[in-house]
Amino acid sequence: MNFLEERIVKDGVVKEGNILKVDSFLNHQMDINLFDQMGEEFKRRFADKPINKIVTIEASGIGIACIVARHFGVPVVFAKKTQSVNIDGEVYVAEVESFTHKCKNQVIVSKKFLGPDDHVLVIDDFLANGCALQGLISIVAQAGGTVEGIGIAVEKGFQQGGRIIRNLGYQLESLAIVEGMDAETGEVHFREQ
Ligand code: 5GP
Repeated sequence: MNFLEERIVKDGVVKEGNILKVDSFLNHQMDINLFDQMGEEFKRRFADKPINKIVTIEASGIGIACIVARHFGVPVVFAKKTQSVNIDGEVYVAEVESFTHKCKNQVIVSKKFLGPDDHVLVIDDFLANGCALQGLISIVAQAGGTVEGIGIAVEKGFQQGGRIIRNLGYQLESLAIVEGMDAETGEVHFREQ
């Protein structure tokens, strides 16, 4: 097991409905030393890529993205969620369905902060069905930029997102891939990587 898998086993909580709660270290209370290790690992896995920007989605991707960005020495842009469709032409827009909140959001990024010269590493905390990632990929595409890679903390390997994104040809690196979990025993099984 790697450092993140060990932490999930130690502090993650399996909830009904295939939800893994990691809010004591990943997406509510945040363990910055852990994020730092994640940044180091993503830097190693994407060492050959000319990354000049990190893109994530609010809210829980932001903390991880910021610490990862220190390892790449690049800025972070986060897509903002908005309910109102007040598109003034100054923003890129994508529709994202939330797995945890079961609702649809538009996410937007200002055209000022993403363009054709950008070589982007997309970072997020979770990958489930891949909706959030597809929204972010669409926004980078609208900007004429390049997605150089995608770094995820926890992928739920039994949901379709990982397969869809890898089939699209992206280098997708997930630090922990959960193959299954049991809400009764609290057990979590990981894919061998
Ligand atoms: P997707 O768009 O890939 O279906 O879901 C990704 C988003 O849903 C992530 O940004 C994350 O916030 C949330 N999410 C999906 N599954 C889980 C889960 O098991 N636990 C937590 N905490 N968040 C999840």
